[in-house]
Amino acid sequence: MSSATTYSPHQLSQNLDAARPAVLEMARYIHANPELSFEEVKAAAAITSLLEQHGFVVERGTGGLDTAFSATIGSGELVVAICVEYDCLPEVGHACGHNLIAGSTVGAALALAPMVDELGITLKAIGTPAEEHGGGKALLLDAGAFDGVGLSLMAHPGPDGRTSNPAGTTSQAVGRFRATFAGQAAHAAAMPHRGINAADGAVLSQVAVGLLRQQLPDSNRVALFVREAGVATNIIPDRAVVDFECRALTLPDYESLLSRVRACFEGAALATGTKLVIEDIEPLYEPLVQNLELSAHWADAFGSRGYDVSPASFIAGGGSTDMGNISQVIPSIHPMFPIPGSTEAMHSAAFTAVADTPVAYEAMFDAAYGLASTVAAAAVTPDERARFIGSAYHPATAEVSA
Ligand SMILES: [Zn+2]
Repeated sequence: MSSATTYSPHQLSQNLDAARPAVLEMARYIHANPELSFEEVKAAAAITSLLEQHGFVVERGTGGLDTAFSATIGSGELVVAICVEYDCLPEVGHACGHNLIAGSTVGAALALAPMVDELGITLKAIGTPAEEHGGGKALLLDAGAFDGVGLSLMAHPGPDGRTSNPAGTTSQAVGRFRATFAGQAAHAAAMPHRGINAADGAVLSQVAVGLLRQQLPDSNRVALFVREAGVATNIIPDRAVVDFECRALTLPDYESLLSRVRACFEGAALATGTKLVIEDIEPLYEPLVQNLELSAHWADAFGSRGYDVSPASFIAGGGSTDMGNISQVIPSIHPMFPIPGSTEAMHSAAFTAVADTPVAYEAMFDAAYGLASTVAAAAVTPDERARFIGSAYHPATAEVSA
């Protein structure tokens, strides 16, 4: 049990400075070696070896996921999980700046490591693969990687121009699906009447969703693309595949959107005479709940480095994170930190380039400081500390008492 009621921001800052060269090298390496969801072999190896060098005990392959890990230092009663991300996007590499997430979270972990006993914490850096696609955190939560955790956090880079105060913001739930239309192949000129055109099912579903969008609330999003729809003009396609996703700010809104979108696909199948199968291809990402006490600590620390942390005047931008699933059961924050001067759209090649610039790496270290300070401040504030320990995540106990 920690008896400390203060911590030294100066000491934390010095610890972070000492770790800077190694963390910078690691973040650059991850940017230069982009790896897709569940394939983050190089990133996981680089991050875990750095954590080991700083005294963390590393478990690799956590939850049966090859590129996940759980690195622990300290034995205090308050268990803190810093979520490390390191996957990239197809084609555009680190267009979401997850190299900066890895740097800010690992930087925070290394800054806190020498202080874990003084703070009375067990510090876990949990390597959570597959944030872009695959819901690594949802899988790790189910696998028990977060059992006993009292609070959890990470930070995400973004363009400049928006407050970094997470209080009152959220993110959208997202579910991702694959719709497969099965028809009947036939010669497109000699016997078109014998064919059942699966590609028409794909076209009609896109048109129906496009029309539906006019009647959707602003907070809903539907995105889709045709993955397969034929191979040659003289063969009527007997198979077409459309991937789609639905997003909304609450789970009830998400369910209602999903049923309307499903109806678009079912209508397309009915009109074309094709057979339709819709499969769930990723875990559901739940909406983000930002803990207000942790938000206030972050705003103090990150604001002290000159960033805008004024109260957010928006509920959420479009977007989703599997940190939402963690935040539904463990007090968490997922603030956005700006790359000063950048206006590039996330998930574009331009943002990939920005994520590897000196100004981006500076912001990354400021975010590392913000995360580390948030943990330290929560650990030494007696009433918060007691609450975070008391509400630690114990799913098995919860089931028994329910
Ligand atoms: Zn991202």
